[in-house]
Amino acid sequence: MDITPEMLTQLNTFTRRELTADEVYIFRVRLCDNEIDRDGERFSLDALEEMKELFIGKTGIFDHNPSGEKQSARIFQTEIITEEGNITEAGEAYTSLFAYAYMVKTDGNSDLIREIDAGIKKEVSVSVSAGSKICSICGKDTRISPCTHINGEEYNGKICHTILSQITDAYEWSFVAVPAQRNAGVTKHYNEDNLDNKSLEISKQIEFYKNILSEVEERTRREVMQMQFANGGIIGKAFSRIASKMDLRELLDFKDELLSMQKNEPVSQLLFIQKNKRNEGEENISSFFTR
Ligand SMILES: [Zn+2]
Repeated sequence: MDITPEMLTQLNTFTRRELTADEVYIFRVRLCDNEIDRDGERFSLDALEEMKELFIGKTGIFDHNPSGEKQSARIFQTEIITEEGNITEAGEAYTSLFAYAYMVKTDGNSDLIREIDAGIKKEVSVSVSAGSKICSICGKDTRISPCTHINGEEYNGKICHTILSQITDAYEWSFVAVPAQRNAGVTKHYNEDNLDNKSLEISKQIEFYKNILSEVEERTRREVMQMQFANGGIIGKAFSRIASKMDLRELLDFKDELLSMQKNEPVSQLLFIQKNKRNEGEENISSFFTR
């Protein structure tokens, strides 16, 4: 890539001593885009704009480099390019964040520079903090209120994905072997900050499912008690004490037994009502578990 005087001025704002055009190697790289990646996530257009600012001055690392030495490059300029005719899976114009980075030429990085020139080192991984992760189906921020939609699954003809925005920090970028973003050749990886967020997310999810389970258990308990009453079994407090000690598994087993008993009895008006309730309950339970 030809080095313009403007480029040299820009990159020299990051150097301790003024570098000449002969001393530096400059390349352009696609950092990320707005397409849905292999993790079922995509950056919002605002996120790309935020990262455009945040990545200036950030250092990138080469994971695999021929000399075995740790080589790095620094971004001195960024730009956003929109391809109007190219529409993403989410229906936006395909938009990418590009970076211009420089390396000081050394004996140790000449092979690496040849690789970049040959287009071999194209895959980039970015490490950022996303303050907002929105479910594309229900619009909930999955960091705050987890929902039951799963990335990659279809809901009413729409594929669920997560929209990342409010990028608060960009930590680094690196060249890696396997890209996550299908078109751009970009992966995101979570830094330690985000690992905390990730475990927070998981514990919220666990809490969410625990709540569902106890709700299902309570409903099943009420249902079993009603069925037991309809079947003319132990009435009232005695059975409610027993039922209160049963866990969900035992309640479901007991319910199965009550159902098989019901099948052998003539259908009464009361049983008929119970049967309808039972079916509703079953539907609820099974839909909870198949989500
Ligand atoms: Zn959702």
